[in-house]
Amino acid sequence: MPENNEKNIKGGISVETANIFPVIKKWLYSEKEIFVRELVSNACDAATKMKRLSSLGEVKGLEDEKYRIDVSVSKNLRTITVKDNGIGMSEAEVEKYICQMALSGALDFIEKYEGEAQNANNGIIGHFGLGFYSAFMVSDRVDVITKSYTDAPAVKWSCSEAGEYEMSEDNREERGTEIILYVNDEGKEYLNAYKLKEVLEKYCAFMPVEIYFTDEDTDKKEDEAEAPINDTTPLWLKNPSDCTKEEYTEFYRKVFNDYREPLFYIHLNVDYPLNFKGILYFPKPSHEYDSLEGQVKLYYNQVYVADNIKEVIPEFLLLLKGVLDCPELPLNVSRSYLQNSGYVSKISSHIVKKVADKINSLFNTQREEFEKLWRDIKTFVEYGALRDRKFFDRILPSVIWEKTSGEYVTLEDYLDGAKEKHENTVYYTTDKVSQAQYVSMFENEGIDVVILDTVIENQFITLIENEKKVKFIRVDSDVAGSLKADGEAGDEPALTELMRKISAKEKLEVKYELLKDTSTPALLNISEEARRMEDMMRMYRISMGDESPILPESEYTLVINKSSSLIKHIIDILPTDVARAERIARQMYSLALLSQRRLTAEELKSFLAQSYEVLEKL
Ligand code: ADP
Repeated sequence: MPENNEKNIKGGISVETANIFPVIKKWLYSEKEIFVRELVSNACDAATKMKRLSSLGEVKGLEDEKYRIDVSVSKNLRTITVKDNGIGMSEAEVEKYICQMALSGALDFIEKYEGEAQNANNGIIGHFGLGFYSAFMVSDRVDVITKSYTDAPAVKWSCSEAGEYEMSEDNREERGTEIILYVNDEGKEYLNAYKLKEVLEKYCAFMPVEIYFTDEDTDKKEDEAEAPINDTTPLWLKNPSDCTKEEYTEFYRKVFNDYREPLFYIHLNVDYPLNFKGILYFPKPSHEYDSLEGQVKLYYNQVYVADNIKEVIPEFLLLLKGVLDCPELPLNVSRSYLQNSGYVSKISSHIVKKVADKINSLFNTQREEFEKLWRDIKTFVEYGALRDRKFFDRILPSVIWEKTSGEYVTLEDYLDGAKEKHENTVYYTTDKVSQAQYVSMFENEGIDVVILDTVIENQFITLIENEKKVKFIRVDSDVAGSLKADGEAGDEPALTELMRKISAKEKLEVKYELLKDTSTPALLNISEEARRMEDMMRMYRISMGDESPILPESEYTLVINKSSSLIKHIIDILPTDVARAERIARQMYSLALLSQRRLTAEELKSFLAQSYEVLEKL
């Protein structure tokens, strides 16, 4: 308890709380910088309270008052000062708010989270709640000089890190509070003006009261023109209909230091039933993998908390850049609480819905633009769909694929267009060049082929197959029904035998078809399932760091086209001139292999030898 010693009040922090100072000092050793946020946001609150009293008419004459916060540093004096012209405190209020409430708040906070502080992943988000006493993380003495807006005289409170404080009257006349930190060794990096300003800009860039920064040692304001370091009315607070594209771009460039123009943005502005605001940007990736690193900054009433809080922001949205201000977020709770919080999951699903709506609206209203954008956003969209079932459902109608002809189609368009020829099947190629032979067989029959050439697309189609009644078949895995001509092909056991010998595969599966295309004598098909399994294994091996993810190739089927005149010829001469039939069939087999994949060195050598032989015979 404080004792009244004439005019000066001396006090000691009570016995059970005496230990708090060393604890605070040690605590949050890695995030000492939050003291800046705590003190400046207190100053902001004090100014906001004053403004409110004035607007309520409780205080007269402050209608034109300019509220401001001044942060200054002196390396020479080893002090950091935070000064405001807010509501101020009387002696009784210092006693109540600083000596009692702030202290017990800090104590509660530390008691609750002491264990978690050591573990950054388990800790509380942004370490909200430590409050005023966070100043002692970097100071061995803190002075508070404050003058209430009422008639009460100014007071000076001075407290050492040992927990002893003194309080005395002060002759300060201006309303407001000045907090002076006498910085200790642990905090000396913040005596560097650049460093301090950087921290200030990080946490306070959007606080609602103007903040000015001064390096006292250079004896002049940081900026001659005296510009505040913050933007008191960040764009996300404005009504979306009042914001221009230029404003969104400028905001993006400033906040993310990215000179490029974002592809598009979403302004989130929700009052009810949830209250949160923000802007999410789709950055323009400079190359394919760039799009995988985003940055979503979380704010709490315009006060910066942290980046990329995955407990609040759905994981796949972390690929975007943006700001989110969630004033109702219970920040002084642990991460595990947030993971299970209904509030958070509501925010999350709202954002997901908005993002899908935006993409759908671009698709519906600006199709041409959308197709240009698609290359840059498809990875994001498909990844999101893989991660979030609701997003998948919403976004699927706007997912488009490029056809080999260069046009784009949606799943629905594709299936509608193909109804007559093949139902609920999508034919695709993963490589237009190496699968060209197959692609052209489909194209010649008027069957569209889409290009699905990314790893994510290949996972995405499996998801669609699981959710919808659709099958995806790569062009080299099956001879589509409509590629076939009428009539029965009929087996040729002797030719089958010969092909098994040539391929050196005793169990080679040989299938006879009558194809409409008469120019292709033979082709190899690898079953869709087997190939996907193989792709998965390969991905798995790569992810496990296996440098040589080469697996035995899947078994393929040799499809022999009985419409081809070359095949007819081989069948004709086979009973009488086996040697010639074999030479032709061998060359044909090599060509079929070649159009399916790259030849091995051995195969290539014998293919070349055979080819020269053929040339000689011509
Ligand atoms: P919180 O801000 O969460 O209430 P703090 O420990 O940061 O907790 O501060 C405790 C109290 O001290 C504040 O609620 C406020 O009443 C008072 N206070 C702190 N800083 C100021 C200031 N700059 N001006 C006026 N009052 C202040």
